[in-house]
Amino acid sequence: MPPPPIDSPFLTHPDPNWLDHDRDRPQPRAITPAVPSTPENAGKAPSDAVVLFDGNDLSAWCSMDGSPTKWIKGEGYMECVRGSGYVRTKQNFGDCQLHIEWATPTPPHGEGQGRGNSGVFFGLDRYEVQVLDSYNAKTYADGSAGAIYGQYPPLANASLPPGEWQTYDIIYTAPRFDRIGNLVSPVHLTVFHNGVLIQNNVALTGPTSWLERAPYQVHPQKQPLSLQDHGNPVRFRNIWVRELGKAGKKEFTLPDELLVRYAGKYERGGNDFIELSVVDRQLVAKMSGARFVLFAESPTKFFAKTTDFQVEFDSAEGKPQSLTWSVGEGGSKANRVD
Ligand code: MG
Repeated sequence: MPPPPIDSPFLTHPDPNWLDHDRDRPQPRAITPAVPSTPENAGKAPSDAVVLFDGNDLSAWCSMDGSPTKWIKGEGYMECVRGSGYVRTKQNFGDCQLHIEWATPTPPHGEGQGRGNSGVFFGLDRYEVQVLDSYNAKTYADGSAGAIYGQYPPLANASLPPGEWQTYDIIYTAPRFDRIGNLVSPVHLTVFHNGVLIQNNVALTGPTSWLERAPYQVHPQKQPLSLQDHGNPVRFRNIWVRELGKAGKKEFTLPDELLVRYAGKYERGGNDFIELSVVDRQLVAKMSGARFVLFAESPTKFFAKTTDFQVEFDSAEGKPQSLTWSVGEGGSKANRVD
């Protein structure tokens, strides 16, 4: 296996830029961890995750062509509708940790690949972790629940009975291509099924597919995630994702009392505002209907991970009277109005 690329989220040796036990090394960012699910109730995402579905609405999802999805929302879950097509995220993700819960129909219908079939896809619709009713149900091993379809059977069959909520915790490392489209590093996947390791950092040969061993085709590192319509009404709940490998920007944990002083309403002109609040010990910005969780790059400068949105306060003393904000480029002032 080739060594992982230098921007990979997994490391092969300690960062040589820091001394052992370096006192200046930033502290790991404090987050609120996930609340585990119970059979009856979905749990809660950790505070630094992007929530893709918390049981309330399908706003993070659309059809593959970008139109509204025809998948339906039930009491705390979303469900595949036969013939409606895959559902995908509106947001793109590269290297990430994904948590997703699923339940196949009960009573079960069909056999083999026709029994509670769906799938969790990375790289848009290229790389599938199989979703299937594999409880006392047989199919070819590399197509059973937790298989990297057509490539790697799961290391164990950790399936629960149909109708029960099951979990996948997946670590996805996107492929890397060089500037002329040659593969530098393949997709890697690690999968836990109901807490059991079933895929241990396996390297994919290319996109997962039926009948053939498809070769890699160059694609952007960040792409939507998608869920398969294989004609069966499989349900999903409590879906969240954490982006990994954000190299380049160091993150700082700032004291809560400083974040509270930054919170407030800032006018950016024309009766448009940026509203900042503290949620789960993190600064959150609302602007033009969008919401950004902010991470500290310095005591006064913050950035979002989902959009290139940046905010810098004029002072860390007292309540700042203004901030400079930008999306992608430039910078504009906004003055505190509360
Ligand atoms: Mg499938």
